[in-house]
Amino acid sequence: MTTPGKRPWSLSQLHLLLTGECTYECDHCFVWSGPEQGNTMDREIIGHILDQAEDLGSIERIYFEGGEPFLFFDLLLWALRQAQQRGFKGGIVSNAYWAEDDAKAMEKLRPFAGLVDDLSISDDDYHGSGEAPGNTTMARRAARELGIPVDFISISGPDSSDSDAKPPKLSADDTTVCFRGRAAEKLAPLVKHQPWDRFTACPWEDLHQPSRVHVDSMGNLHICQGLSIGNLLETPLTQIMGNYDPDTHPVIGPLLKGGPAALVQQFSLDHQQDYADACHLCYQSRSKLRGLFPDILTPGQMYGEIES
Ligand code: SF4
Repeated sequence: MTTPGKRPWSLSQLHLLLTGECTYECDHCFVWSGPEQGNTMDREIIGHILDQAEDLGSIERIYFEGGEPFLFFDLLLWALRQAQQRGFKGGIVSNAYWAEDDAKAMEKLRPFAGLVDDLSISDDDYHGSGEAPGNTTMARRAARELGIPVDFISISGPDSSDSDAKPPKLSADDTTVCFRGRAAEKLAPLVKHQPWDRFTACPWEDLHQPSRVHVDSMGNLHICQGLSIGNLLETPLTQIMGNYDPDTHPVIGPLLKGGPAALVQQFSLDHQQDYADACHLCYQSRSKLRGLFPDILTPGQMYGEIES
């Protein structure tokens, strides 16, 4: 095993959760974003995070996401310029609410040409309420015209056999959603479940050698949403990564040893007999452990609380 602190940094992406606020309140949102959430970064914390990313030496790309980062347009533009000045590539994740017509899409995106080389647009039946189906298309058209590489992030749509279902109903076999955050509460009941003790590994995150982590406006560094490995306002990123010892971490250690099922066993947690997926069991188990690990299983927003 690599000695903690001596391992070569694998971290190449930092995802800044610029704000918890969003125009929509999607059922599949991992981070419980919505119109009521606050949690917006200011310039001071963004500058501090970017300085630390520079110090680490392995970060290549900074993503700005949320929530909906375009709600704070001037801040987003400033932050991307700051990132570029430090030599980072820039990315944005947005729901394209701002692309009301082709002219507005061009107006909003033009300042980002040359600053962003990955615009990811969330586009599926779970975003918004279907009142503006053309926004994502217009955003994509504008991005292409401006030479900004653009991609769509989608999950599968509602089951068309039940078109009256509110909210939209997932196919019972759906495997495109991870049931963390709001998805664990809202969507997990809509799909087939499996016995809890089958979830013996984390299927999505590289908990040993993460290549990307998220940072929220309070400085928490998330290896998975709501699972913090340190706070950038209290400890430098180089130190957090240098001290990161996943095998002995009280929550990540069990996850590495035997997935969310091991978390249940380790802490003798009450549990259902079956769950939608590994993340569903993990999220529900972590929710029960928040009192024991308040600095790790944080902030409240990631577990459904409204933060101002
Ligand atoms: S199993 Fe847990 S740690 Fe792994 S991706 Fe799912 S929620 Fe995150």
